[in-house]
Amino acid sequence: MDPTDRAPYLPGRRALLHRTALAAAGIGLPVWLRHARAADLPRFALGVASGHPGPGGVVLWTRLTGPALPAQVPVHWELARDERFGRIVARGSQTAGADDAHSVHAEVHGLEPAHEYWYRFVALGQTSPAGRTRTAPAADAEVERLEFAIASCQRWDHGLWAAWRDLAERPPELVLFLGDYIYEYATPALARVARRHEGGPTVTLEQYRARYAQYKSDPLLQAAHAMAPWIVIWDDHEVAHDYAGEQGERLEPDFPARRAAAYQAWWEHMPLPRALRPVQGRNTLYGRLDWGRLARLQWIDDRQFRDPQACPRPERGGGGNVVDRRACPALAEPGRALLGTAQERWLAAGWSLQHPWNLLAQQTLMARLVRPPAAGSDGVRVWTDGWEGYPAARARLLSVLAERRVPGAVVLGGDVHASYVAALRARWDDERAPVLASEFCGTSISSHGPPQKRLDAELHLNPHILHARGDQRGCIRFALTRARLEADLRAVADPDDAASAVTSQARFVVEAAQPGPQRA
Ligand code: FE
Ligand code: CA
Repeated sequence: MDPTDRAPYLPGRRALLHRTALAAAGIGLPVWLRHARAADLPRFALGVASGHPGPGGVVLWTRLTGPALPAQVPVHWELARDERFGRIVARGSQTAGADDAHSVHAEVHGLEPAHEYWYRFVALGQTSPAGRTRTAPAADAEVERLEFAIASCQRWDHGLWAAWRDLAERPPELVLFLGDYIYEYATPALARVARRHEGGPTVTLEQYRARYAQYKSDPLLQAAHAMAPWIVIWDDHEVAHDYAGEQGERLEPDFPARRAAAYQAWWEHMPLPRALRPVQGRNTLYGRLDWGRLARLQWIDDRQFRDPQACPRPERGGGGNVVDRRACPALAEPGRALLGTAQERWLAAGWSLQHPWNLLAQQTLMARLVRPPAAGSDGVRVWTDGWEGYPAARARLLSVLAERRVPGAVVLGGDVHASYVAALRARWDDERAPVLASEFCGTSISSHGPPQKRLDAELHLNPHILHARGDQRGCIRFALTRARLEADLRAVADPDDAASAVTSQARFVVEAAQPGPQRA
């Protein structure tokens, strides 16, 4: 066994990015990516990706592009121990078909656990750029350390993606993408933005495919995919703002067809196994993975199975602000679900008492968020699209953590375009109540955030929230050992500059022996 395989996963010389500046932008990119720019490789202009790692396998992804693609194209892939592909350990081929937008989802099995690999594709006389990936450790392995990152909300026309460059320069072992990979909107005609969405709002399969192709043309996103395996879940904008189950925000009768098109396009563009290809517009994407004996990771879907948001505006679906809860009894209905019955049961049964850490990758802020009262308010203001709008479902989830004494529960989220660090308690207003979980909600990669003034005004109303920043874009990097979780909240200095500096906004730790985040 290669001794480097057991070393902590710090980027070694093999993986170090050569900081040769891209001529115009001054962006540090790996040499292999610089040589593999879209103009040189029209068949692989969207890059490569890997995902859903297991102890002996991983999914390899690409999508063929370019003019005059035959309906069926044979694609070969190879996987090696080294980036020069001198030691190839697995090979295979798959047919990329027009029905799935010529996407490739190659499932590689029989690999070594906890090993680094390099992969690439060959089709139509071209070889793709190489990607790096890594298998998960064996379920019973003693793992000393896991480095991972969470990210969400990368609206194309809101900024450039220095956050991805920062991540690709020091790639973690695993990236959890928590939703809003694309946004379905047209860019407003008068918007003064660095770059624009092509075309109008996405509704049809072809439009969603084109939107993913636009996002995936970004070299920094490609670099982040090419340097680490991802586990992906969706939130609303992969389909449409604030949808719930099969209900669109405008209650449009043909919404299920739009959702089905969006789900298909999402699968086509993500490193997901074939088993997750949607069937009749449905897709059971929630899942779990044990990272050796160190952590159980579970990921869930808060959109497909949820009940509609409480008390929408007349003739509308979607979320909104409830200023007087007495006027919205639906909020308190005990049966309302954010995850749906089957998923909620699955999650309740899935927490591990054998692992020191239980990580939950989900979409949005879970902590109670009391907002300053508005006129006519009963004292709080409730945003109905998030967990705050499904308080019974949130209480059920937290009560399972309490009853089963789940160790090391950490809730990871996104969606709100702001960084929040919070202690989740059984009783929010009681600082002596036991902490049931630590929450890290990451800011957006690029989507605009809420005014910092508002977040500052909220802080004193929410003593369980330790940190709230909406003014910076970025992601969160974590280093996990049996004893502690370290979080580094990354912040982009200039969201309109792909070469922007990216620094630490804050650092927190969670000690395994003492639940709840602490400022580091
Ligand atoms: Fe978002
Ligand atoms: Ca969202």
